[in-house]
Amino acid sequence: MNTPAASVADYGARAIGPIILLGAPGAGKGTQAKQIVDRYGIPQISTGDLLRENVKLGTELGKKAKAIMDRGELVSDELVCDMVAERLSRPDCARGYILDGFPRTCAQAEWLDGYLSARGSKLPLRVIKIAVDYDRLLKRLTGRRTCPVCGTIYNIHFNPPKVANTCDQDGAALSLRKDDNETSISERLKAYEKQTLPLTDYYRARHALTEINGDAAPEKVSADVLAALEQRPDKA
Ligand SMILES: [Zn+2]
Repeated sequence: MNTPAASVADYGARAIGPIILLGAPGAGKGTQAKQIVDRYGIPQISTGDLLRENVKLGTELGKKAKAIMDRGELVSDELVCDMVAERLSRPDCARGYILDGFPRTCAQAEWLDGYLSARGSKLPLRVIKIAVDYDRLLKRLTGRRTCPVCGTIYNIHFNPPKVANTCDQDGAALSLRKDDNETSISERLKAYEKQTLPLTDYYRARHALTEINGDAAPEKVSADVLAALEQRPDKA
């Protein structure tokens, strides 16, 4: 594997541009986002956090959003895009940023393209999809067991305790989170697939997409993600 010769300090000073991470729940998106944030010193922008922040601070956008949510309705694409536009205009986004939970729809993706080109963004948008095998993902998620005493997380398929259903550290009986049962996980994954597939196609057609094999060893996945960011997407 080729390790770029640049030092961490170089990474933290360079412009990297906008990054979108796609990956199903349990695909390890959070871990990858964190290492990108640490290496490049760019912010991770979550639309959920942004919405909460605007409501809490009582901004004009936040007031509008709160009124809609109080009526039990969903915040419109337009309002979400306005909040994202405001966030991206802040100075900490100048060298780049990771978008988390945005875009969710092709309409939002089109809006983002328009926004970036209107601002004369020189660095291309990079979309990285962490692809994982469905059955493996299901095992990863349904096999999860937690110790209620010390919080250690096990996986009965990939990282089992020495004695079945018993914590190695303190002997406590391991527990299963309510929403970690197979039915609800399978529903979550299907909903994710349905929502993300059009976006994947959208970015693939624009040669902005890099797919990473998320079933590889964690160190390999991390290295592949960073390597993908160091090269321009395939224009062929
Ligand atoms: Zn324990």
